[in-house]
Amino acid sequence: MTDWLFNPAPTPSLPIHGRSERFPVRRILCVGQNYAAHAREMGQSRAEPFFFTKPADALVADGADPRFPLATANLHYEVELVCAVGVEGAIAGWAVGCDLTRRDLQAAAKDKGRPWDAAKGFDQSAPCGALTLGALPDPAAAIALSVNGETRQSGRLHEMVWNPGEILAKARELWDVRPGDLIFTGTPEGVGPLQPGDRIEATIDGLQTLSFTVLPR
Ligand code: MN
Repeated sequence: MTDWLFNPAPTPSLPIHGRSERFPVRRILCVGQNYAAHAREMGQSRAEPFFFTKPADALVADGADPRFPLATANLHYEVELVCAVGVEGAIAGWAVGCDLTRRDLQAAAKDKGRPWDAAKGFDQSAPCGALTLGALPDPAAAIALSVNGETRQSGRLHEMVWNPGEILAKARELWDVRPGDLIFTGTPEGVGPLQPGDRIEATIDGLQTLSFTVLPR
């Protein structure tokens, strides 16, 4: 009686720029409202960083195109600097990520004081570009996102309320942060909706560009 057996899903992973090895992803932590102007546009003032998570299999790597998700009429983009935790818990590398969000489900969850899982941790909700190993990008580096060639988000990494080192320290107060963990570090202002067919280009100076198209559901 083995008809229930199946092969385990492969470990999600990211390509590493200039290397043949890949970075295996263990889990995805995300910080909310980490740029002052975005916190304001979401109706919040400066506060302690807070976290939510996405499952590792929400990762969309290698320039793959995510499908427009189920159960939303208001899918939003959020460009973010992503830290990749390596050996001994240090940040091993950096990437450009997009924290896709079902904003209508998030608003409903906020109204009712319910969890954000359905708003943030859905299938294919974490497109992420190739990892660049090494030191933190220049804090003055530009972070930007365009939809169909039109710039929608444009900021600088030093506009973060909590910098990557501080975020990692805060995460360690809550979790046993391990090699393979990714941390999405929050988005600058200018978030907005996506439609099926939209082409997204997300950039941070010095890192590999993340590009994808939202496929029809
Ligand atoms: Mn975000």
